[in-house]
Amino acid sequence: MKKILFILLLFISLKGYSQFDNYFENKTLRIDYFHSGNYEHEYYRPDELIEKDIWAGSKINLVDTFDYGKFRIMVYDTLSGKLIYSRAYSTLFAEWRTTAEGKGSCGNFSETMLIPFPKKVINVVFQSRDSLSKWQNIASQVIDTKNEFILKPKKSSNEIIPLHYSGDVTQKLDIAIIADGYTKKDIEKMKKDFENFKDYLLKSKPFDKNIDKINIWGDAAISAESGITNPVDTFVAKTILGTSFNTINSDRYLMTLENKTLHDQLSNVAYDQIIIMCNTKKYGGGGIYNFYCTAAAGNAQSEFLLQHEFGHAFAGLADEYYTSEVSVEDFYPLTIEPWEPNITTLVNFESKWKNMLDKNTPVPTPAVNENNKITGVYEGGGYISKGVYRPFIDCTMKSAHANLFCPVCKRAIQWMIDFYSK
Ligand SMILES: [Zn+2]
Repeated sequence: MKKILFILLLFISLKGYSQFDNYFENKTLRIDYFHSGNYEHEYYRPDELIEKDIWAGSKINLVDTFDYGKFRIMVYDTLSGKLIYSRAYSTLFAEWRTTAEGKGSCGNFSETMLIPFPKKVINVVFQSRDSLSKWQNIASQVIDTKNEFILKPKKSSNEIIPLHYSGDVTQKLDIAIIADGYTKKDIEKMKKDFENFKDYLLKSKPFDKNIDKINIWGDAAISAESGITNPVDTFVAKTILGTSFNTINSDRYLMTLENKTLHDQLSNVAYDQIIIMCNTKKYGGGGIYNFYCTAAAGNAQSEFLLQHEFGHAFAGLADEYYTSEVSVEDFYPLTIEPWEPNITTLVNFESKWKNMLDKNTPVPTPAVNENNKITGVYEGGGYISKGVYRPFIDCTMKSAHANLFCPVCKRAIQWMIDFYSK
């Protein structure tokens, strides 16, 4: 029986590889585009197509199975009409357009998607969720890599430091940690901070049980000036990635708008996920699903910040807190089940962690001391105190506690590690 199972598994994985080899070369097509608009409208405009000489993603899991995120690209083989690759994600534009500013004026954001390099003509369809959370086609772009003008990568000269290596990049989750706000004089500190960031991840649960499925790379990008821009204190540092506090008018929100620079600086490292390690003592960070995350490296809470923000960026986890200075409005309409795996409006709880509840656990579950270790349905989450529920009384996605992902968040992280490491 075991032998049959083994042959079957071998057949399935060979079939996966042949699908990849049919349609793709073992390198990356970086698709840069502009995503613009406001709360009501959105537009896509193609920018550059750039070739990268390695593919870091899975060769088996080409189609996204999670259904998270605000946006999605669907890559079709034009000849057969077959879906050959997809990936869902969120962006800063999605957050900005829900702010007061985004409801009035028009914003223009550079975004990048990485797909395996197609051998044949493809049709890339850009989709967004509508107000009912259904996917709608917004734009499309036919790409023929044989005839299209494809730029060669602008190779950065950054030193790439292998911080943790467990094997072939296509069969592992590859995390690139890129430095921002470190000058040449800060290089020793940068290397120490890289080691700390690696440990914050690999020594925390559930990453600690998966170290053989993960590679971590340090990208030693050098900045002209030391520190991180903080507009509230009128401190400006000329840094390589332009990361700044006070993104969308939220003091602790640490993001960069320089998308193309970020991806150029990462041109000689293979990655599935990006962490920007910021040389600042000030508390702050940010994380957006399949986009990137940031964390302050010199703060007493850096360990928590990194785990929390990586939870957003990597596993699509929502904030489980509900008192917020985050300036996003109407983020979770109560008539729609949110896509994040760790909050629910109970509209479609079956799709969430219902199968992890003990049959005696009441729904909703009272947030009282004796339920401290019980997976339940606790009211308050996703910046909203009524009508949005979280799975545990406390969690790294709720309060500033490191290494405390709740069972539902741990399960979601595990799913994602397994997806990337096939
Ligand atoms: Zn949680």
